[in-house]
Amino acid sequence: MGQMAATTYLEMGSSEDGGDGERDARRAEATLRAIGEASTEGIVLHERGVIVSVNGAAAAMFGYPAAELPGRAVVEFIAPDQADAVRSNYENDRAATYETWGLRRDGTRFRLEARARNIASGEGTVRAVLLRDLTDRDAAASQQASTNSLLRATLDATADGMLVVDLRGRITLWNARFKEMWRFPDEVLLEKADEQAIAYAEGQLLDPGSFRSRIQALYRAPETESIDTLEFRDGRIVERYSRPQRIGDRIIGRVWSFRDVTSHRRAERMLELAVQMRDEFLGIASHELFTPITSLSIAIRGLRAAVGTGLSPSAQGLSDRLCGNAERQVERLARLVQELLDVTKIDGGLMALSVEPFDLRDLATEVIERFMPELERDGISARLEAPRPVPGCWDRSRLEQVLTNLLANAIKFGNGLPIELSVQLEAGAAELAVVDHGIGIPADQQVLIFERFQRAVSSRHFAGLGLGLYITRQIVEAHGGELRLVSQPGAGSTFTVRLPLAVPTAPVRA
Ligand code: ADP
Repeated sequence: MGQMAATTYLEMGSSEDGGDGERDARRAEATLRAIGEASTEGIVLHERGVIVSVNGAAAAMFGYPAAELPGRAVVEFIAPDQADAVRSNYENDRAATYETWGLRRDGTRFRLEARARNIASGEGTVRAVLLRDLTDRDAAASQQASTNSLLRATLDATADGMLVVDLRGRITLWNARFKEMWRFPDEVLLEKADEQAIAYAEGQLLDPGSFRSRIQALYRAPETESIDTLEFRDGRIVERYSRPQRIGDRIIGRVWSFRDVTSHRRAERMLELAVQMRDEFLGIASHELFTPITSLSIAIRGLRAAVGTGLSPSAQGLSDRLCGNAERQVERLARLVQELLDVTKIDGGLMALSVEPFDLRDLATEVIERFMPELERDGISARLEAPRPVPGCWDRSRLEQVLTNLLANAIKFGNGLPIELSVQLEAGAAELAVVDHGIGIPADQQVLIFERFQRAVSSRHFAGLGLGLYITRQIVEAHGGELRLVSQPGAGSTFTVRLPLAVPTAPVRA
C-alpha cells in the first residue's frame, strides 16, 4: 500500500514537524501496510476513480502484480456494463455496499462484493473499497440449489408420503404425495405446526387414540425407529415408518414416511381366501371321490369272480388282462385321491400317527414285492440291501406310504436303470435309502420339490400331482425323523430317510 493510503486510512493527516509526530506516523504506516497485506479481503484506495493503492489480495483477485495498478482507472477492472453504476457511486460520494461484476486480467468476469466509503485524507478525501470475490460463494450456492432441486424432485417422485418434523414439533418438509394421502388443505401444512397436522389427521382414522399415543411415545424417544399400520375410516390401509433425522451423530428431527398398502393387503387377503377355498374344495372332493373308487374296486373284484368260470382259455386271458388293468388304474386313482386327502389333513394339522412295533426291513421287502409286476413289465431291476432286521416303533401304513412314494418316483424318474434300496441301523437310528440313476434334480429345485404341488419336470412328460414328496417329508418329520436328498442332474438321486427307533413322546405335529 502506498504511503498516502496508509496515512489516510488512519486519518492521521500528514505531519508538519519532522520530530516525534513524524516517527509515529511512519510507525503507524508500517503497521497499516502489514495489516493490509495480511488481509484476505481486497483493499483498493482511489481518488475520483483513479487508483492510489491496492493490497496484495486485491491485485491477486484481478490477476495483476500490485505495482501495476496505481494510476489506473477503477472502471478498467469492472465489467463494462457495470461501470456506470460504479462510477455514479463514487461520483456521488455515497457509502455503498453492492454486488457487481469484476473483470480479471484474462478478460473473465467474476462476481464481486464491494463495500466503499469516503474517508478524510488531509485536505481532500480518498475512497476506500473493500472487495470480496464471490465466485466460491456462488458456486456453493448453486451446488446447494441443485442438491435441493434433486432432493425435491426425488421426494415428489416417490410413491410414499414423506414428512419431516424438527425437535420442536415444526414441520420442515413434506412432499406432494403426503399432502394428497392425508388430504391436507394448504393452510394446515403451511402453518408448519405438527400438532395441528396431527389433529387434522386423527379425524380420518379408525383408531385416533393409538395414532396419537404412538407419535407421543416416539417424540419422547428420539432415537427410536418404528413401523406400524394405520387404518383409515375410508378403508385405506397405510404403513407408517419413522426414524430420526440426523446431522452426523446429532438428532435434529424425525422423518415419517407413509405407504398406501391397501391394494397389496387386499390382494393378500384374496389370495388367502383363494387358498383356503382350494383346500376346502380338495378336502371335500377327495372325500367324495373315495366312495365311488371303493365301489369300483369291489365291482372289479366281483366281475373277475363272475367271469372267472366257464370261459375259453383265450377269453379267460383277455378277461384277466382287462381286469388287471382296471385294478391297477383304480389303485392309481385311489393313490392320487389319497394324496389329496393327506394334504388337506396335514394342512389342517391332523396327521395323527398310530404307532406299533415292526421290522422296517420286512416292510421294505413287502413294498418291493408289491412293485414287482410293474418292475418286471418295465424291465427294471430293484435290489434291497438289508443285512439285518431293523425293528422299531412307527406308523406302519404311513411308512409304507413313504417307501411307496420314494420307490414310485425312482421308477418314474429312473430312466429304466437299476434301483437300489437299503435299510439299516446306523448310529442308533433306522436309515432307509432309495437310490436311482435317472434324470436327477437340478440344484435350484432340490428344496422346492418338497413343497406342495412343486415339480421339477413338465407334466406332459411325467404324470403326478407334485404332492408325494411333500407328504413323505411330513410323515418323516412327524416321526421325529429327517429326509435328505443328494442328486445330480443326469446322474440320479438318493433320498435318505433317518428315523429314531421310536417316535418321540411329545407328539410331533406335521
Ligand atoms: P410327483 O412325483 O407327483 O411329481 P413328488 O412330490 O413325488 O410329486 O415329486 C416332486 C418332483 O420332484 C417331481 O415332479 C420331480 O420333478 C422331482 N422328483 C422326485 N423324485 C425324483 C427322482 N427320484 N428323480 C428325479 N426327480 C424327482
